[in-house]
Amino acid sequence: VDKKDFVLAVEGLTVSFDGFKAVNDLSFYVEEDEIRVIIGPNGAGKTTVLDLICGKTQATDGSIKFRGKELTKMSEHAIVHAGIGRKFQNPSIYEDLTVFENLEISFPRGHGVFGALAFKRDAEVIAAVEEVAETIFLSEDLNKTAGLLSHGQKQWLEIGMLLIQKPDLLMLDEPVAGMSVAERKKTAELLNRITQGRSVIVIEHDMQFVEDIAHRVTVLHQGKVLSEGSMERVKNDPKVVEVYLGH
Ligand code: ADP
Repeated sequence: VDKKDFVLAVEGLTVSFDGFKAVNDLSFYVEEDEIRVIIGPNGAGKTTVLDLICGKTQATDGSIKFRGKELTKMSEHAIVHAGIGRKFQNPSIYEDLTVFENLEISFPRGHGVFGALAFKRDAEVIAAVEEVAETIFLSEDLNKTAGLLSHGQKQWLEIGMLLIQKPDLLMLDEPVAGMSVAERKKTAELLNRITQGRSVIVIEHDMQFVEDIAHRVTVLHQGKVLSEGSMERVKNDPKVVEVYLGH
């Protein structure tokens, strides 16, 4: 594949915190329809990479191109507008609102929470909410108060709140942490459903889940790529085995 065909091209990315390079001359490329999983020991720089892509942290050096657009000089807000959605580990849903309302207020209309709620529920919004609710296994729970959902369902709802904004790149930080085995399986199914025309980057520690979802795996170590490729290839890479066993 020609490099310009990649949706996301990270090149020479570096960030220093008081002289310590948490991300050090990092390059990797993500294709459309791809689920890329980033793994690596604690402190490898995984979270920092997502922070750099979504503009929460400013790079010291290097470039992040998304559909050819340079992100490193853009604000977090502009990066969201460019089509990048990020889910953090703890769900930030509105616990007192229903599932429907949580999805409705996330529908992109350029209004804040209260402005959006005051809107009439037009057919377009209802259709979008219902479509997303089906994807996140919450069709039967649209009128339920979000605070009453299970831990796993709350995670799915937050993914739904991002999906309704139709991001081209979705980034998830440990999406199955704290989930039951059954919920993990359903989350893998969910992610496999949503890659059409989209890329997904996931930070994950659960290796069974990584096997279930990853098209390619990038192993980070000390802010650099230690190994990259299929799960099969990466898990048999002696460099990876050494880092994980020595951990
Ligand atoms: P991971 O997600 O792989 O566990 P992180 O990206 O959270 O790793 O952290 C990588 C390294 O950068 C760690 O050593 C961490 O302490 C350091 N680090 C991350 N953010 C900051 C910050 N804002 N200031 C100083 N050091 C940081």
